[in-house]
Amino acid sequence: QHQITLAKRPEGLPGQEHFSFEKTDVPSPQKGEVLIQSIYISVDPYMRGRMEDTKSYVEPFQVGRVIDGGVVGKVVESESDKFSKGDYVIGHLGWKEYSTARESIIRKVDKNLAPLSAYLGVLGMPGLTAYFGMTDIGQPEDGETVVISGAAGAVGMIAGQIAKVHGAKVIGIAGSDEKVSLLKEDAGFDEAINYKTTSDIHTALREACPNGVDVYFDNVGGEISDAVYPLLNDFARIPQCGAISSYNKGGDDVGPRIQTYMIKARVRLQGFIVSDYADRFDEGAKQLGMWLQEGKLTYKETINEGFDKIPDAFLGLFSGENTGKQLIKVAEE
Ligand code: NDP
Repeated sequence: QHQITLAKRPEGLPGQEHFSFEKTDVPSPQKGEVLIQSIYISVDPYMRGRMEDTKSYVEPFQVGRVIDGGVVGKVVESESDKFSKGDYVIGHLGWKEYSTARESIIRKVDKNLAPLSAYLGVLGMPGLTAYFGMTDIGQPEDGETVVISGAAGAVGMIAGQIAKVHGAKVIGIAGSDEKVSLLKEDAGFDEAINYKTTSDIHTALREACPNGVDVYFDNVGGEISDAVYPLLNDFARIPQCGAISSYNKGGDDVGPRIQTYMIKARVRLQGFIVSDYADRFDEGAKQLGMWLQEGKLTYKETINEGFDKIPDAFLGLFSGENTGKQLIKVAEE
């Protein structure tokens, strides 16, 4: 079986050279463990942070050790009373074709309730991030204007649709014309802006938001956010979800000072980590599942095939190659 380790720590933009492919024996499960064949492996922007040796809310990856993240797979051998061969499970596992896992760190997923891949996207970590960030911090109200950056990604696309459910007008910012039309035509956004081809994002946003901005769900930070701040209305809320534009910069990103806008408009900016809401994950997943069933929510995935495509798919997150949730399918269901 194959596995991928961190070859060295990147400075700036990572590349293939930071990953190493290895071949090892398929492990055998011990008592209380199962052997899982990976089917879908998730790559996520937060993993860029884990490639650095800095203190953060998740442990850094270790050089020479297998990289880990969200995986959906199938139990192929069981030494556990709780799981049987053939069960589909999700867990935080290695970038490996086969993993052993203690029964306490995995849970079953039901292929009949939702496609397996959805448990890593709309019904999993990104969907829950959108749900809690938007409902708990953003709190959009009927008729308010909500702007989402990174809008055509796994989190952004769901966050915008949740704001629509609450009756808001929703404007997305994304990096291609295809993403812009997807947001407007499939995801029900009222307006969308291609930040790569729009010469003046601030003016484009001002035109799209004649009543100002009440909620800014920020996935990207940087210059895009600089263009949004002057449009914030009194008592606007900013769920600070991500800042992907700075992840590969190395050191602190520097921009214009925004405090005056924040004071004048009495803005509330709150950073959050989805795991802050761990005790409410069931509630979030249930609500997202209901909206899916009711047709109020649609989602997109970019699924690359083949274990060897994992690093490419990860790197593609930083050039916008994915639309919706980026996954790699490494085995048949
Ligand atoms: P996405 O599916 O949105 O993938 C990343 C996208 O970011 C790309 O497709 C690209 O789209 C955009 N992007 C990449 N580089 C830049 C850049 N320099 N400037 C602007 N946009 C860029 O990923 P996720 O939905 O999984 O995550 C979105 C954000 O949310 C990330 O910042 C992530 O770190 C954060 N996050 C935070 C969590 C939390 O608990 N706080 C949990 C999960 C995610 P485009 O073509 O539009 O440029």
